[in-house]
Amino acid sequence: MPADNGVNGGANPQISSGYEAIDPATASKTQKKYQEERNKRLRPDGLTQYINLGDTDDPSYMRFQKDPWDDGTTASLTLKDNDHFKFLILGAGIGGLLFAVRLIEDAGFQPEDIVIVDAAAGFGGAWYWNRYPGIMCDVESYIYMPLLEETGYMPKHKYAYGEELREQANRIAWQWSLDGRAMFRTVISQCTWDDSTAGWTVEMTQRAFAGDTTTTASVRADFIMLVPGLLNRPKLPKLPGWGKFQGPSFMASRWDYKVTGGSQEAPEMSKLQDKRVGIIGTGASAVQAVPHLAQWSQELLVFQRTPASVDVRAQKATDEQEWKQNISTGPGWQMARSRNFASFLANTQPPEPVDLVSDSWTSFPSFSVLTGGAKTIGMDEIPDHVANLYQLDMPRAERIRARVDELVHDQEVAEKLKAWYPGWCKRPAFHDEYLQAFNRPNVKLVDTNGKGVKGLTETGVIANGRTYDVDVLIWSTGFEQGVLGSPGARCGVKVIGRAGLDMEDKWSKGVATFHAICTNGFPNMFFAGANQAGASPNYTPTLETFARHIAKIISASTRRIGKTQPTAKVVIEATQEAEQDWSRRVMVGAPTLAPMAGCTPSYYNAEGSLDNMSREEQMLAAPAGPWPAGLNNFMDVLEEWRSRNDELEGLHVSGVQVD
Ligand code: NDP
Repeated sequence: MPADNGVNGGANPQISSGYEAIDPATASKTQKKYQEERNKRLRPDGLTQYINLGDTDDPSYMRFQKDPWDDGTTASLTLKDNDHFKFLILGAGIGGLLFAVRLIEDAGFQPEDIVIVDAAAGFGGAWYWNRYPGIMCDVESYIYMPLLEETGYMPKHKYAYGEELREQANRIAWQWSLDGRAMFRTVISQCTWDDSTAGWTVEMTQRAFAGDTTTTASVRADFIMLVPGLLNRPKLPKLPGWGKFQGPSFMASRWDYKVTGGSQEAPEMSKLQDKRVGIIGTGASAVQAVPHLAQWSQELLVFQRTPASVDVRAQKATDEQEWKQNISTGPGWQMARSRNFASFLANTQPPEPVDLVSDSWTSFPSFSVLTGGAKTIGMDEIPDHVANLYQLDMPRAERIRARVDELVHDQEVAEKLKAWYPGWCKRPAFHDEYLQAFNRPNVKLVDTNGKGVKGLTETGVIANGRTYDVDVLIWSTGFEQGVLGSPGARCGVKVIGRAGLDMEDKWSKGVATFHAICTNGFPNMFFAGANQAGASPNYTPTLETFARHIAKIISASTRRIGKTQPTAKVVIEATQEAEQDWSRRVMVGAPTLAPMAGCTPSYYNAEGSLDNMSREEQMLAAPAGPWPAGLNNFMDVLEEWRSRNDELEGLHVSGVQVD
């Protein structure tokens, strides 16, 4: 356990003094069990077991996507043919807002230069859509909530609830006058680069509030920024009998409080008091919602395919004095705290003397498989690297399994709630009431021994060879993988660059970016993703880094062109050489990810399909990984580039005179 889950921080003895080794016999037994459990879950249909809601027009799936939060009150720009914007940002979540704020603060543009486009009817991104009961961010609010220094806001708790995160998004929009610059209920279908206008033509469709009326139009933009978030497209399993179930049914990411009663602010779900409720899925979202459902439902059935690993949360209210004295300690404190957090995730050695966040993330050094670490691994070092990571992970994994025994009274149920895979294989969860919910007489775990639910009937769910009748059915089955496909494809946008180059075609030949934010052939387009970027469970500093970097690139380019061609349009494009170099540096570090081989299926490994790739496919996939030396190194490299030059090395910057 970490020494201290408090806000003061503490020394992190597990990391500084090393881990107790697990004896070889236990380790080998456990690895065998990992393998057996994984084999139960591998299935030939891999990713195609799911319907991606962004790619279907089947009404029985489409109805799940409806925006439950649009009450028509949010102000929005109206889509009009031929409108022209300097900066068009796709995404009104944290990322899109940060991009806009840095254009204003760092590059000196006006809010009027910007339009923020989103399918939602409000700001917040993930925190707009996801409003299930109990929703919170499992990364410390002091480092996750954006722009705390600039807004002067003190989060209420160490881990912020969803509503407060949405409020912070609205606060940012208001503070930088972006609330009048959003075009909501709008989706972009295609962006096409036009050399003759040195800009983008953008096809968009705006939905009217209430009703199915839509307007389709084409606008122009000098710059496009794709900032859709990493998990923005919910998915549902393809199941026999889909559409048959007669009761109310909805996704956790589109919670229907009309069915359950209550609201996000007060999730008193009194309409469930006489209902038998089923929830499918036991990932990070379900872990947060289940304790609330358990409290309000007459009976709750939790359908489990793979148990989540659930570590300590230790939620607490923010102490104002602590906040002033030890947390918001002066200019730059938030980034310094984020960097401190990232260093523990990357298992940097020697560790920093104080672990400021000091929670269940910062005592999880084996997660460095996914975040990258300070040390680059050579091909010949892979076996040792994998063995070391298992060694590092096992005491934590054992502790989490022991935690299930401590908290769940029924030993048979406890056994079924234990996670048998290394910590890096699935998104970990953190909660102090989830496991205890299974002690309640009205809660039943329907474990499916790795097989999942098999179908639907008019009255319920088929699993384990029988039907479980339910009155209300909730799908908590996750989101489409956020790193597959090109930046355009990840937002459902067809992107056509110079000379008719389709971004998806370029990506199918291998990911290639300059600094993770732009790619050759697609001028004046920037994006935020996970490929080739510093990774961390806390995505905010990565987004902040992208936003600063792009603002700097655009302001330096504008200055340069303005000196000699004051009336020309600025065109910025990554050079092929620069993106090849960046991609090579990512590929060199790909062996860091080697322990992912043999993981239980999840969205992290494309439901196991990454293990079945041919040598050729592996070579193609290698440059899609994260920046191998970790988030702090990624930020250092980009910061150094910014400080070093107004030369904009790696970019081709030109001025184009347009009549
Ligand atoms: P997940 O992908 O984590 O979980 C989906 C669940 O659905 C899994 O338990 C999966 O089982 C299960 N499932 C899928 N198909 C079936 C089936 N046919 N039968 C039974 N079960 C099935 O989605 P979540 O929405 O829970 O979380 C997604 C991500 O969102 C997280 O990983 C995290 O990154 C993010 N998140 C972040 C939070 C935060 O605090 N920052 C909070 C909540 C979510 P199996 O495991 O076997 O595939």
